Amino acid sequence: MRLQEFPRHPLTFGPSPVHRLTRLTDHLGGADIWAKREDVSSGLAFGGNKVRKLEYIVPDVLASGADTIVSIGGVQSNHTRQVAAVAAHLGLKARLVQEHWVPWDDPVNEKVGNILLSRMMGAEVRLDPSGFDIGIRRSWEDALREVEEAGGKPYPIPAGASEHPLGGLGFANWAFEVAEQEKALGVHFDTIIVCTVTGSTHAGMIAGFAALEEATGVRRRVLGIDASATLAKTTDQVARIARHTAELIELGRDLRDDEIQVLEGWAGDLYGIPVDSTMEAMRLGARLEAMITDPVYEGKSLAGLIDLVTSAEIPRDSTVLYAHLGGQPALNAYHSLWA
Ligand code: PLP
Repeated sequence: MRLQEFPRHPLTFGPSPVHRLTRLTDHLGGADIWAKREDVSSGLAFGGNKVRKLEYIVPDVLASGADTIVSIGGVQSNHTRQVAAVAAHLGLKARLVQEHWVPWDDPVNEKVGNILLSRMMGAEVRLDPSGFDIGIRRSWEDALREVEEAGGKPYPIPAGASEHPLGGLGFANWAFEVAEQEKALGVHFDTIIVCTVTGSTHAGMIAGFAALEEATGVRRRVLGIDASATLAKTTDQVARIARHTAELIELGRDLRDDEIQVLEGWAGDLYGIPVDSTMEAMRLGARLEAMITDPVYEGKSLAGLIDLVTSAEIPRDSTVLYAHLGGQPALNAYHSLWA
């Protein structure tokens, strides 16, 4: 089926805004840097990248007749907060498993930010002591069973909506949206920078830009910046989801290895724990552009962008698009970084 033929339930205001990061560009003195803002593209509880993925999953949720969406993430998961938001918006229940993915034991971690918003929106939030893993989890299967035992009809959405068969479509469509915005703005982005953890954001972009390449002959680099600190697992997941999504949208060829690039160097040792480059990137984004990033995801991808531009690995004559995928609510739990 062609991408345009998949049912899509609108959850955003429309195309996410694209704008130039003029002061950051001048400061770094290299490539021209722009941002596309998933963090301000929906009215559902501060939005973010999962809203766009969920636009393609919601039709299946509604068709299934489910009354409860079940999902999983860390304590400060942006994904589960967006699932709670979409469930509230649809008049469904949300059952969320919040695992101990990040050894960040600030006393307010379980009380503020994303988890607070999910509780406000009426989600049933259960804390679980299991550590970080982007795969399918026992605690999540237990949650599904419990909803059924209580007489409900669950609809499972795995971590980051990534292992869902339709999880890559939202960001495949993002690529086509970028192409339309390029025409309107008179600009061409040869390099895309995106934060990668559970993989379907980056994977969807890879499939979408490959389809555009088939249509236009124009090649671009879609560089994933790993923030999982489990690079091999994340790269495998990106490749698998990208190939699956490419097949779904009938790309008609296999993806080349050079189309699947997840770069390491900015995740630090642990998912969810910032390192010096994260802090410096967050500071620069905030002070030069009032563009707020978080220490778990976008601070790390922004750090990658800054280094790649500064070292001219992204050449000076490039025009780069930084995908800002949201994530700011978690900042509340990281208040001590700025104290
Ligand atoms: N940025 C933010 C703010 C996120 O919430 C996520 C979710 O995991 C990502 C980046 C990474 O996206 P993905 O899990 O699709 O790789």
